[in-house]
Amino acid sequence: MDLTAVREVVDGRSAVPWRQGDAWLAGGTALFAEPRPALRRLRDLMTLGWPALTVTETGIEVAATCTITELLIFAETPDAPWPTGRALIAGCCRAFSSSFKVWNPATVGGNLCAALPAGPMISMAVALSGTCRLRGPDATERLVPAREFITGNGATVLRPGELLRSLTLPAGALAARSVMRRVATQAWGRSVALVTGARSGPEERLTLTVTAATTRPVSVSFPCPPSPGELRSGLLSALPHPLLLDDVHGWPTWRRHLALQLGEEVRRTLAGER
Ligand SMILES: Cc1cc2nc3c(=O)[nH]c(=O)nc-3n(C[C@H](O)[C@H](O)[C@H](O)COP(=O)(O)OP(=O)(O)OC[C@H]3O[C@@H](n4cnc5c(N)ncnc54)[C@H](O)[C@@H]3O)c2cc1C
Repeated sequence: MDLTAVREVVDGRSAVPWRQGDAWLAGGTALFAEPRPALRRLRDLMTLGWPALTVTETGIEVAATCTITELLIFAETPDAPWPTGRALIAGCCRAFSSSFKVWNPATVGGNLCAALPAGPMISMAVALSGTCRLRGPDATERLVPAREFITGNGATVLRPGELLRSLTLPAGALAARSVMRRVATQAWGRSVALVTGARSGPEERLTLTVTAATTRPVSVSFPCPPSPGELRSGLLSALPHPLLLDDVHGWPTWRRHLALQLGEEVRRTLAGER
């Protein structure tokens, strides 16, 4: 779709001050998907040349401009470190309701910043205890846990002119036992519920995170694998009606039902019951 009100596209490195009507442009696959009459100027992040992935012993720094394709190629590289974390990353990349045509330009940062409930990079970032590095217009940086970055449907903690520089996934979470389950109404359809689980830390706590069914990520943590009843009541109290997504793809009560079903599958898998 043409963004007919946009008058200018500037290099992301431009020093021109941020003003109302500006927006960061990454792959453009969400930005150009609907009319945006308030936008006047795009600031192109893809000119910044950030390395897509920086892998060290302490974890992975994923640049905001890393594309879904680049991340998926890393995740599916045989013999790369952290097979369990990479399997979850690959599953989340493949959870996009789209083909490689969208994966090629779409970025990890664009997915987080668009903050759509079915954002699979959001699911991945929260499941793997990610930290978002944000950079303000005066170049000051702040760190925000991924679980706090999304505040609602299409809403984040980003301030005007602030950008997401990168997402860091720590080695501990990448090495933990983790699993994801999702439901979509079609093979390449948008997720209506996506649940991840991970067992990490010295106590092997079990943390489940629900996305897609909710307007923002919802995590519930248990000190040890809960019984089916404990899991159900923990999830039910974490998923009050106002947090459930209500749109053409599914009613809130159905989404909660799916989250409970997927949560139980995740529990059984990580508890070693099958
Ligand atoms: C066929 C199709 C299927 C899709 N399926 C899905 C899906 O299943 N789930 C889903 O969540 N989305 C989906 N999308 C939407 C979109 O493709 C993804 O959300 C994608 O990851 C957005 O990334 P992008 O780089 O294209 O972002 P852009 O469109 O460039 O930007 C998206 C938003 O984020 C802002 N932004 C981008 N990068 C930054 C940054 N580093 N710092 C601050 N702000 C930034 C932009 O200003 C804009 O508001 C789909 C789109 C299409 C066309």
